[in-house]
Amino acid sequence: MRKVKLGYNGPEVSEICFGSLAISPLQGRVSLEEGRDILEYALASGIDWVDTAEIYNNYEQLRPVLDKYPEAKVVSKSYAVTAAELWESIEKARLGLNRDVIDIFMLHEQESHLTLLGHAQAWEALLKAKASGLVRYIGISTHAVQGVRAGALQPGLDVIHPLVNYEGLGIIDGNLEDMLQSIAFAAELGIGMYAMKVFGGGHLATNPEKALHFVRSLPGIQAMALGMSSRQEIDFNLALLAGEQIPEQLRHSVLYREKKLYIADWCQGCGKCFPACPQQALYLKNGKAAVVAESCVLCGYCSRECDHFCLKIV
Ligand code: SF4
Ligand code: SF4
Repeated sequence: MRKVKLGYNGPEVSEICFGSLAISPLQGRVSLEEGRDILEYALASGIDWVDTAEIYNNYEQLRPVLDKYPEAKVVSKSYAVTAAELWESIEKARLGLNRDVIDIFMLHEQESHLTLLGHAQAWEALLKAKASGLVRYIGISTHAVQGVRAGALQPGLDVIHPLVNYEGLGIIDGNLEDMLQSIAFAAELGIGMYAMKVFGGGHLATNPEKALHFVRSLPGIQAMALGMSSRQEIDFNLALLAGEQIPEQLRHSVLYREKKLYIADWCQGCGKCFPACPQQALYLKNGKAAVVAESCVLCGYCSRECDHFCLKIV
């Protein structure tokens, strides 16, 4: 697989990063062991880095596979606000993933310069973690136009993980054109960028060629994290990337596996999951949670908030 360099200062990695949210307990689509098998298949197929986050709750799942592939790079993220929380997150990642050094560590879902200001202590700690060698590169992930812009100006930042796809689905504070301008701004400053939600959380899966090639053609975006929860999805995406003819059976098995947020009918309508949704896609309808399907990017973040296990990506 083609290798790329993330910006002026970032590492060299494969063009695809394995997005491990899709195999995590947050999405609940595959078992722990099935997830490990899928990750191992991805790494054996030439993908050489893995994207995770503290919220995905899957360090334990990833660790045995990463132990077999010590050269594979790992990205993790944290919602830490204070320095103490950030150090705790880094230690949790180092222990959980059995790595002395985390290759890329990010502040998760930074929406604007105000969000970053609110996380100033955590950022200072992240700079110190990098200086002391516990983390190699640092950055932010964001669903926001202003997040990309603010991240690009953040002192010491190496990498941004922005949400971008050809419809602009999931952008929380503007449209696609705004996001492309922010990405171009960050690119001029030499920031490394790898995209998320290339297939719009599954909404653009009917035209994967267009989705992939759109993001691939964006100046400033060097790589992309793709969430994959089966060996077929890995084969499919690698063939797509290589411009190979995709066997009809493989295309069918991947494309017609439609995903959605399932809300169990025993939902109590308590609303506890609503604030966890970065897309504000959840609302109350007839006393139960309901979802605006067009806004939902199938991240599964809401599921961990439900004490009654009502929410699942299926
Ligand atoms: S409803 Fe919101 S939090 Fe839940 S999966 Fe959809 S986008 Fe993610
Ligand atoms: S899905 Fe769970 S957290 Fe959300 S409203 Fe229903 S019971 Fe409450």
